[in-house]
Amino acid sequence: MTAAEARISPLSVVIVGGGTAGWMTAAALARLIGNSCIVQVVESEEIGIVGVGEATLPHLRGFNARLGIDEADFMRATSATFKLGIEFVDWARTGDRYLHPFARFGRDANGVGFHHLWTRALHRGLVPGPLDAFCLPAAMARGNRFAHPAQDDRRIEAGYGYAYQFDATRFAPYLRGIAEAAGAVRTEGRVVDAERHPETGDVSALILADGRRIIGDLFIDCSGFRALLVDGAMGEPFEDWSAWLPCDRAVALPCRTTQALTPYTSAYAMAAGWRWRIPLQHRTGNGYVFASAFIDEQAATDALLGAIEGAPLAEPRVLRFKAGRRRRAWVGNCIAIGLSGGFLEPLESTSIYLIQAAITALLELFPEGSGSPVERDAFNRTLDLEYARIRDFLILHYHATDRADSAFWDYVRTMPIPDSLVERIALFRARGRIEPHAQGLFLEPSWLAVLIGQGVLPRDHDVRADMMADADLAAALREMRDRIAATSDGMAPHGDYVADYCPAGLA
Ligand code: FAD
Repeated sequence: MTAAEARISPLSVVIVGGGTAGWMTAAALARLIGNSCIVQVVESEEIGIVGVGEATLPHLRGFNARLGIDEADFMRATSATFKLGIEFVDWARTGDRYLHPFARFGRDANGVGFHHLWTRALHRGLVPGPLDAFCLPAAMARGNRFAHPAQDDRRIEAGYGYAYQFDATRFAPYLRGIAEAAGAVRTEGRVVDAERHPETGDVSALILADGRRIIGDLFIDCSGFRALLVDGAMGEPFEDWSAWLPCDRAVALPCRTTQALTPYTSAYAMAAGWRWRIPLQHRTGNGYVFASAFIDEQAATDALLGAIEGAPLAEPRVLRFKAGRRRRAWVGNCIAIGLSGGFLEPLESTSIYLIQAAITALLELFPEGSGSPVERDAFNRTLDLEYARIRDFLILHYHATDRADSAFWDYVRTMPIPDSLVERIALFRARGRIEPHAQGLFLEPSWLAVLIGQGVLPRDHDVRADMMADADLAAALREMRDRIAATSDGMAPHGDYVADYCPAGLA
């Protein structure tokens, strides 16, 4: 039988778990390759979902668009706001503040990145502002403004990215509606066991608590931190990265909003980790991500309670995790997507992106049966690369700091870091070079924002930035800064924009 003939009978795909990962996967498979597979989701209401994961990256817009999701409808349903980037407060030293926007800085000239011009001006005392004064969405964030980017690339209001901040408990149900409308079938039940084929070792069926048996060809493990299949059934080892990323707990607590609706997520450095603030339409999400080796749960909870802006809307909830990932995400006929495949703390809002990256890779490598080793290896390589890049990027935030005000900051500032990151920092420090890569997270502007924000300044710049006279460079920078500030000032306040475009009501 040829591969094309094999595809005539659709593959039976069983997804375990109905959180963000489970329903994103189900919606994508049912909507985009529904002729090649039958999609079933098994989930247990009694167990529930992790219920956090509110800040996203711009890539989600591409995912939603491929599924035909209307943006305003999705934002209303999930009580979402717009996100232009992440604000980091007190990270390099207390009192510091910088933004990691989803956009480039300035304008390149003479074939060289803008930051080389900025660095040259800085070294000559010419710079009329910090790096993010040369980035429109950063100025919009500072002024709590928002507008959709213009379509015409020649305009200053074009070319920036944006993402969403949404209520995690509303996202999975929203996707469930899309998946079911496209033919996915949901089964309520608690998985208690998995049968494996005696020769191949593949998973052949799931056993539910009431004795039902669910058979399938391909099993997607979206069971969250429980990792029922990839760990429980297949025993795939976990690669522990907690020596580099020691935060292993979070206490989460939503509160009433008392401030203007910010178009960005905030990350405040704390004594033993950091605190998130995520503004939604109906409430503000807060959490303290901390390292239990340096602070206990009660002290972290007290610190969070002391820092939030409004009255709490729930009891504080502690979540436990470990930084790292499964050595292989796809093993046999079982693929881990979501928290079952690994976890990197939410400092750069990367988990939902990783779910999306895994789904994209699965669509591209969708197998005929349980999959061939080449497909599995290609899938695993893609995920390896994504995880490793994010890992290094996160470590940078902790390691490149002058903070020495707690045992936690002493540890992360002085810990050995991966060679890949040592090389990146050294290359940038020497002459502002950031090694480019075409795919995945994070691209040059992101590294630039965080390197400069954390106080890693190049000693010198690219020689191609020397072609402009000092006075011309200073005038061009001033003109760019002023034009960006004026454009941002002319935009609507973010709160008004959201109220007009996608009001969710207060429910
Ligand atoms: P879950 O939501 O836990 O879903 C697991 C599913 O499996 C549930 O439906 C459950 O019922 C089911 N299940 C489990 N066991 C069984 C069983 N035996 N039988 C049947 N069903 C079962 N990500 C971001 O992108 N941005 C963020 O800002 C962000 N913040 C985070 C903050 C914290 C503190 C944490 C811990 C995570 C954060 N994340 C964030 C990650 C994000 O929450 C997850 O990636 C996302 O919610 C996906 O979770 P999941 O679907 O893999 O797991």
